[in-house]
Amino acid sequence: MTEQPVYYFDNNATTRIASPVFEAMLPFLKEQWGNPSSAYSFGHDVGRHVDHARTKVAELIRAEPREIIFTSCGTESNNSAIHSALLTQPERRHIVTTTVEHSATLKFCAFLQKQGYEVTFLPVTADGALDLAQLKRSIRSDTALVSVMWANNETGVLFPIQEVAAICRSKGVLCHTDAVQAAGKINIDVKELGVDLLSLSGHKLYAPKGIGLLYVKRHTKYHPYIIGGGQERGRRGGTENVPYIVAFGKAAELALANLAKENTRVRALRDKLETGILERIPGASRNSPVEPRLPNTSNLAFCGVEAEGILMLLDQAGICASSGSACTTGSLDPSHVLTAMGCSASRARASVRFSLGIDNTAAEVDCLLERLPVIIEKLRANAPVDEAAESSIAVSSGSEVP
Ligand SMILES: *Cc1c(COP(=O)(O)O)cnc(C)c1O
Repeated sequence: MTEQPVYYFDNNATTRIASPVFEAMLPFLKEQWGNPSSAYSFGHDVGRHVDHARTKVAELIRAEPREIIFTSCGTESNNSAIHSALLTQPERRHIVTTTVEHSATLKFCAFLQKQGYEVTFLPVTADGALDLAQLKRSIRSDTALVSVMWANNETGVLFPIQEVAAICRSKGVLCHTDAVQAAGKINIDVKELGVDLLSLSGHKLYAPKGIGLLYVKRHTKYHPYIIGGGQERGRRGGTENVPYIVAFGKAAELALANLAKENTRVRALRDKLETGILERIPGASRNSPVEPRLPNTSNLAFCGVEAEGILMLLDQAGICASSGSACTTGSLDPSHVLTAMGCSASRARASVRFSLGIDNTAAEVDCLLERLPVIIEKLRANAPVDEAAESSIAVSSGSEVP
């Protein structure tokens, strides 16, 4: 078994299951294994824990428990939201989204295009921002849904979802937001936000991988994505993943309690890391504005150096970070998010994302600040010319790709 990393700066890819979350789910893997839909108390008692978890995740986003559908992941939640908007409004065959969404939205929209639906992918500015006037103009009489993420997983840039939702409301169009990266990091109040649909994922929030939810505002027509039994009030077939639902509930409870910490302690660590790197490493620069941004994310470009090389040497030092999103590393394509912001391919390939979480410490940041300048210097010394750096790394990492 590979040892656990010493220093983990990749919390936007996934998070470690919090101990109270792990403890909370254990009984449902052992003694309390009944089916929550059963009529006898052995099953029904388990159902009460599902109800409790539903209340807790609802509290995290200020929704009502009945507005929550548990899903298998953030990807299913995004797919389901878009799918439902199209199936409940068959006369509407157009979707509006952005070029910087997670692949869970982008790839599903690309698939729908092949099925004959129309999709508008809105561009972003160099700051990663949306042009709201353009968004408004893109909405048509046959638009079924506007799906815009809240917090970008690669850059941490926040979109003004409240304003997006207000525009949608004025146009009579459903609004969905992928809030997977926002949860636990910034305050979520679905009523204030005004969206109709919102996605979350457990494993970005110190719960296990394989559990997510979709918020569906009361009275919104909904068509299930997974059709089967009457679970989730007929909106998602399949026997409930009780242990993970319970875990998600506990994680939501902790997320609410830790929200202030994410915004003070974690933000301070992120700022220390970012300022430290920018001060110590010549040719390093930020790939986003300072604000509006998640408090935990820093995406930085290291001019003339390949991210693949940086990540490899960091890995050898027991430090985890990433280039782009975990779902796209391995491909040599530059990040679609940075490319959409107008970064050159070489700048995008020279970029590394550091994403912090509640377990990170100041000592870990100090260690990174000590190691990284040496790593960058070493890589630059090996490949002083930009193009040479690109081609040599492309060859060496290319051979590792299956
Ligand atoms: C991780 C992530 C997802 C996908 O969630 P899974 O539970 O891994 O399917 C969707 N959107 C964003 C912004 C994410 O960061």
